Amino acid sequence: MKNEILLGDEAVALGAVHAGLSAASSYPGTPATEIMEYLIRVSGQGAHFAASWSVNEKTAYEEALGASFAGKRAMVSFKHVGLNVAADPFMNSAVTGANGGLVVVSADDPGMHSSQNEQDSRFYARFAQVFCFEPGNHQEAYDMTREAFDLSEELGFPVMVRMVTRLAHSRSSVTPREPRPQNGLRTGEGKDWILLPVNARRRFDLLLRKQPEMVRIAEGSRFNALSLNENDRSLGVIASGIGYNYLREWLDRVVPAPSVLKIGTYPLPDALVARLVGHADTILVVEEGAPFIERQLKGQFGIPGKTLRGKLSGDFPPAGELTPDVVRKALGLSPAILREPGPLVLSNRPPQLCVGCPHADTFKALNKARETHPGSHVFSDIGCYSLGALPPYNAIETCVCMGASVSMAKGGSDAGIRPAVAVIGDSTFAHSGITPLLAAAAADTDMTVVILDNSTTAMTGGQPSFGTGAGLLKLIEGLGIRKERIRVIEPLPKHHEKNVAVIEEELDHKGLSVIVAVRECLEESRKKRR
Ligand code: SF4
Repeated sequence: MKNEILLGDEAVALGAVHAGLSAASSYPGTPATEIMEYLIRVSGQGAHFAASWSVNEKTAYEEALGASFAGKRAMVSFKHVGLNVAADPFMNSAVTGANGGLVVVSADDPGMHSSQNEQDSRFYARFAQVFCFEPGNHQEAYDMTREAFDLSEELGFPVMVRMVTRLAHSRSSVTPREPRPQNGLRTGEGKDWILLPVNARRRFDLLLRKQPEMVRIAEGSRFNALSLNENDRSLGVIASGIGYNYLREWLDRVVPAPSVLKIGTYPLPDALVARLVGHADTILVVEEGAPFIERQLKGQFGIPGKTLRGKLSGDFPPAGELTPDVVRKALGLSPAILREPGPLVLSNRPPQLCVGCPHADTFKALNKARETHPGSHVFSDIGCYSLGALPPYNAIETCVCMGASVSMAKGGSDAGIRPAVAVIGDSTFAHSGITPLLAAAAADTDMTVVILDNSTTAMTGGQPSFGTGAGLLKLIEGLGIRKERIRVIEPLPKHHEKNVAVIEEELDHKGLSVIVAVRECLEESRKKRR
């Protein structure tokens, strides 16, 4: 088959298609969005599998789990914090197990380019005790995803593929292999999928008994490779995922050559690790994300007689992304001779709302209304509108996680904040805002929820929204909010005064009210016009 130039995310997607994928589900989030975008594109070009966005990561996971129960190969993908949302079915699927191959792709964002934290999904894989692949380049992203499906069926449990931003969003050549056909329908049998305690105990016991097998598989995996320098014992390097790629940039300059253990799968290949640690006096661990391998080596007290270097020792920065240069320094190499950078031609461009964005008009009206309501606090959610935190708006006080605006505003109101305001987009409202609003409606909490309905999931590139338009208004009413307290505004400069008046009225109202600001995202309307 012909080589293809692919994003790391696309290599994962193609690997899944060629592994016989039948169903894929996802919720958009950087840096994982392009996996599903690729799958939707390919499925629209005649490939026969289901690929769709879901309302949130939990539902996406459960959809994939259902397809696996049916014996089909299924993949669910999301960004690392999406795994927090999907943690319930993820942890429990490690007990039910998988029927058709079930692959969960979690894309981490070290350096927080577009995320609220840097969590490392390898901990989740270890927590659930499932096998995990960590690709270091695009070919491995393709190969490992294919192998993840095979292994999931061989073990009978879900398998994780951990991606990171630099790999997900860079392009390189990938050599694909002949596609494998899809599985036929073959539903899960027995009581394995009914997690009543009697079954759950039996299944959990099986998961525990699988652990030594997983270690043996890791020890024999072609993605883990040990190379010992028999003539020198001074340095051994354990490098995983993209960290191994950075290490390779410098290896031929390190004298004497270190022994190297390349890691691409977890649980760790214990026997290979033991051989490297037994061979070298100093062990340097190069890994992207948290000191996951380093902590396992160090344990509580370290390895007697050995020096362990990595993030915990301060040889690598504790936060942010690895870079080839950071790895060079840790190897003790002098700076590479680089060309002098040319004059800076681009000035700093902090992120901001598009010129003319409907959110800008909503924030202007909200800020004006707040002038007459001292003591007000605005709890925001996650979307383009989080940029309301920046000048010139300075319009929000919090932004924590999906759906938190509504529940935090309720908590703030219960604690005495007046007026308490939540600001949430239509897609985020569908993702995680409905249940907290249901609770606020039951209590008639004194707060105002502003739902910014721009009819799309704008921040990640315009994926469909499940809670927009007339359906959104019906949904809000169905949650128990009184009809007269559901107000609709159109955020346009010409309606500014009118909108301020509506917001002021609802801030004054003692009880729950919802203001829906309806105007399409400019980018989306431009796309449609094109
Ligand atoms: S993409 Fe749409 S919602 Fe986001 S800032 Fe631009 S106009 Fe506003």
